[in-house]
Amino acid sequence: EGGADCSEKHKISRDSVVLGRILGEGFFGEVHKGVYKSPTGERINVAIKTCKDFSADVKEKFLSEAGLMKNLDHPHIVRLIGVIEVDPVWIVMELYEHGELGNYLVEQQYMLTNSTLILYCVQICKALAYLEGLSMVHRDIAVRNVLVASPDCVKLGDFGLSRYIDEQEYYKASVSRLPIKWMAPESINFRRFTSASDVWMFGVCVWEVFSQAQQPFFWLENGQVIIQLESGVRLPKPQHCPPNVYSLLTRCWAYEPATRPSFSHLACSLNDIYRTELEQEKDT
Ligand code: ADP
Repeated sequence: EGGADCSEKHKISRDSVVLGRILGEGFFGEVHKGVYKSPTGERINVAIKTCKDFSADVKEKFLSEAGLMKNLDHPHIVRLIGVIEVDPVWIVMELYEHGELGNYLVEQQYMLTNSTLILYCVQICKALAYLEGLSMVHRDIAVRNVLVASPDCVKLGDFGLSRYIDEQEYYKASVSRLPIKWMAPESINFRRFTSASDVWMFGVCVWEVFSQAQQPFFWLENGQVIIQLESGVRLPKPQHCPPNVYSLLTRCWAYEPATRPSFSHLACSLNDIYRTELEQEKDT
């Protein structure tokens, strides 16, 4: 219901967008900085994704990410401003000036307190709890796909691999451009993706947050990862990761998907840890 209204709502005119400098290279084409003038005259800084391939099937894939984002509204999810559906097609999103969390963690590593790092994890977890409630799997949870809006606010982005899960309750992936080192065993073995496999990936993303965005399992080849996981090996505790956070991660990495905690449960636990950490930092 409301499908048509929804896409009308997000259709914007090219005249309302001023294209600025290039921010980076996306999978489909350049991503530019720019300014969007809303119908009420408000000027909003935006990121504009472009698509260099004009063939119908590529454009459809490119626009599918925006199609999913249209229905999302959460303080810790990248906000879609609008879509220009005539050539050249553009996806216009809110701009997050500090860029990718992965790079930000490296640049700011000595400035970031443990409570701030836990706060980022709480925020990503709340975004994922929201998706879990919508029966949506993200499938690509990693610090490279989280953007920093301000020093105390991050936003989950990159819905390029996201899917609504159908009645069979999982999405069977057909493509093989998959992030093996972040993936749950059942995703690697059977390309099975559920909210529980997202929980596993979230655990790996938290590990990245506390490891200054080092690559998980950087010491292994992709092909070795599943062998290690099957034999019970897991990512080690990063030096500065609080033990109670690491203990949650080991539960996210339970081999059996059904025994992993839900995102709503994790959000509560992480929020408690955040508040305790904040109190301790105040006292010292
Ligand atoms: P794709 O998912 O199509 O490969 P990305 O999302 O990785 O594209 O975007 C490419 C680059 O543009 C990245 O370096 C990313 O940091 C930047 N970028 C994308 N969206 C935004 C945004 N909303 N605000 C700021 N930078 C962004």
